[in-house]
Amino acid sequence: MAQRKDEGTTTESKTIEQYCSVCKETYEMPVVEEPDDHDVVWLKCPGCAGFLPYMTDQGKHVDKSAAEKDGEIGDLALEDIDIESAREYTEKDVYEVNEVIYHRSWNDYGKIIAKEELPGNRKTIHVLFVNQGKIRLLEGVT
Ligand SMILES: [Zn+2]
Repeated sequence: MAQRKDEGTTTESKTIEQYCSVCKETYEMPVVEEPDDHDVVWLKCPGCAGFLPYMTDQGKHVDKSAAEKDGEIGDLALEDIDIESAREYTEKDVYEVNEVIYHRSWNDYGKIIAKEELPGNRKTIHVLFVNQGKIRLLEGVT
């Protein structure tokens, strides 16, 4: 029996294989946000449930490991932030710049360094985590 594929018009089954530096595993990750005029595709890691940006613009190769060795990225120390006032991160909440958050899946604290609104009313926060370094997360997801 031939299975017809033209019935489902949604893209919910779309996945991209990507390495998660948190889980240290490569997964088939479902695409949660597709780019409009931004170059970022958002993937949800099935291991840690974190949102990872997948850069479609592969031409711009950034040598991140060299920068990390220099201590340019991720030089936020626990003593620099007030972890007692940290709010647990959930994608449904909305955060303020300089607010300290706690990401339970990653067991990591971070400070919000910027906010960015993407086309289509998608809001993101740029967070500098103590262990993970700079990561973008979604906020205000309804
Ligand atoms: Zn993961």
